[in-house]
Amino acid sequence: MAGVAVIALNLWKRPAAQAAKPSPPKPLRDGAQDLPSIVAIDDAAEVRPWEYLVIHHSASVRGSAQSFDQYHRQRGWQGLGYHFVIGNGTDQGDGVIIAGPRWYQQEAGAHAHSTLYNERGIGICLVGNFEEKPPTEAQMAALNELVLKLSRMYKIDAEHIVGHNQIRRGGTLCPGRFFPMADLRERVRALR
Ligand SMILES: [Zn+2]
Repeated sequence: MAGVAVIALNLWKRPAAQAAKPSPPKPLRDGAQDLPSIVAIDDAAEVRPWEYLVIHHSASVRGSAQSFDQYHRQRGWQGLGYHFVIGNGTDQGDGVIIAGPRWYQQEAGAHAHSTLYNERGIGICLVGNFEEKPPTEAQMAALNELVLKLSRMYKIDAEHIVGHNQIRRGGTLCPGRFFPMADLRERVRALR
């Protein structure tokens, strides 16, 4: 079983995998991970009708799925508001993808300040402040694979891959001016 999924399971005590032992994330090749196991959902969970992929940056130098989970709980939310977090090598490995409980259980996110995009949008957060500098290469490699996988699984068009600022104009700089949104969409358009 892939390391990343196991990390998330232990982190949030996902019931189906209580027997799983913790192990460090295990890249399969050049930072790529076992995406099928990362995007696998709980057996009991009913797949939501996903229509959007919403990209965020954390606007912080460091962080991890675990630290954002704690932060979001402090704000009164039910844990990690994103469905996926991609680390930058600070508190979570560079390019390591962690899926949270909202993904496993196919629950709405708490990331978009919009009912539509929370209910129908898969929230992906990259650790870092992309107003200051771009994401790492490993983060973009991981994001490209994840986005391609999800867009194929749920038939999400490139136009429906959006940055937080595109759905909340004027309200946020997220995911930052150095985030290569046009490239991401172009890549999905070309490969899907
Ligand atoms: Zn955001």
